[in-house]
Amino acid sequence: MSGAGADAFGIYVHYPYCAQRCPYCDFNVVQPGPEGRPDDRYRDAVLAELAARAEDYAGRPAAVSLYFGGGTPALWAPRAIGAIIEAVSARLGLTAGAEITVEANPGELDAARMVALRAVGVNRLSLGTQSFDAEVLRRLGRRNTPDDNRRCVDAARAAGFENLSLDLIQAVAGQSVEDALADVAAVLALGPEHVSTYELTIHPQTPFGARAARGEVLTADEDAQVAVYEATRSALRAGGVLPYEISNAARPGREAVHNGLYWRMAEYLALGAGAHGFRRVATGGERWENERHAGRYMEAALAGRPRERFRETLDAETLLEERAMTGLRLDAGLPVDAALEAAYGAAAARLVERGLLTWPEPTRWRLTERGRLLMNQVVAELTA
Ligand code: SF4
Repeated sequence: MSGAGADAFGIYVHYPYCAQRCPYCDFNVVQPGPEGRPDDRYRDAVLAELAARAEDYAGRPAAVSLYFGGGTPALWAPRAIGAIIEAVSARLGLTAGAEITVEANPGELDAARMVALRAVGVNRLSLGTQSFDAEVLRRLGRRNTPDDNRRCVDAARAAGFENLSLDLIQAVAGQSVEDALADVAAVLALGPEHVSTYELTIHPQTPFGARAARGEVLTADEDAQVAVYEATRSALRAGGVLPYEISNAARPGREAVHNGLYWRMAEYLALGAGAHGFRRVATGGERWENERHAGRYMEAALAGRPRERFRETLDAETLLEERAMTGLRLDAGLPVDAALEAAYGAAAARLVERGLLTWPEPTRWRLTERGRLLMNQVVAELTA
């Protein structure tokens, strides 16, 4: 798998604005008021936060990834994104060919904006296509249509993007295995380098959460979810987009560098409202979340004092547990060192006996197909 090792470093930038909130979404999202999105002020706040936090990451290797997530960062003025790329490069360094991703929604960015994003250095788009079935998109409350999805990919290619990731949401109530496979076929027909597939999750504080609380069934039942999951992985593999993580598949060499940082417990700086960062410190690790409210975030960042919602320290034991949990998500498995072996070796042996874990090499633990379906249980037993 290409991309980041555990000693690599990357940067996440959160842009919290969306044209409209999707009814299942629980991300830190703001719908702009009549005055519109404060793009320049938000850019200045992120730049000020970068200036205030860069010192914490001094001495790290140049960043292998810069990821603009949201929200819908493709709505942000490309010149603002360009200014942040330049500032990150000047303050922390970006490796040659660093992955620079912007999340975008089909139907919300035109060809000129894509050309402008490419011109300021963005080299990867993560597209919220979600489905190619108009009825599923309608039920999800999405604004994009299947035609928007196709036009968006065509325009991205024409703008020079050679690395596209397409998202699919699955396990929507009423969606059969055949329906899910039709979506996968539609995605594969567009030749993406990367595909992410997510099960529809119902969060209590969302409109979908309220509907589910009233008894409405919005997600497929567990058996259907498993059938869709397994069929999707097989179809992607057959199409040359190889599953490499629980929810992600890629053409060889196109695995997501940025997400790889999370799965390997590498360090990342987070900028923007509600963004989460992680760094290693002498006693273990440190994680924090920025102020979520965009207005308060900007005010504090512009004053040179980034405001945090929380900051926690993670001791060595917690870091080990998280390393096991995130590393097992990868199809390649979890590289096992002396600390993991000492802490979880006996439990791993029991899971191997039960056919939930394998060790293809003595220094690597990997979920079996059955173990992958029961991942939460396997991780809980491993780290109990
Ligand atoms: S576009 Fe994405 S981030 Fe924005 S509301 Fe919809 S799901 Fe959430």
